[in-house]
Amino acid sequence: MSDDWETVILGPKWAVRVRDFGLDDWLKLNCPCGHVAIVSTEKMKATQPGYMRLKTFEHKFRCRKCGNNEGIFWSVVRRKDAS
Ligand SMILES: [Zn+2]
Repeated sequence: MSDDWETVILGPKWAVRVRDFGLDDWLKLNCPCGHVAIVSTEKMKATQPGYMRLKTFEHKFRCRKCGNNEGIFWSVVRRKDAS
C-alpha cells in the first residue's frame, strides 16, 4: 500500500493549516504501536475552520487499533497517480 502514496510537504508542521489540504491530500497517521492509518481530510475540512493549525488538534488523532492518542506521527500523503 505504501508504494501507492507519496509524502507531501505542505510546510513546517507547526504551520500546516486545514485549508492547506488539497483535494487529493490524505492524512497518514503512524501510531507508536505500529498501526498506520490513512484517513481522508474531508471530515476535518468539514468540521474545522480553515485557519486551524493541525498542531492545535493533533492530540485528537486516535489510533483505531490500540486507542492511543499520544505520540501519533502524522504526515500528508497523496496518491501517486493523482496529478
Ligand atoms: Zn496504536
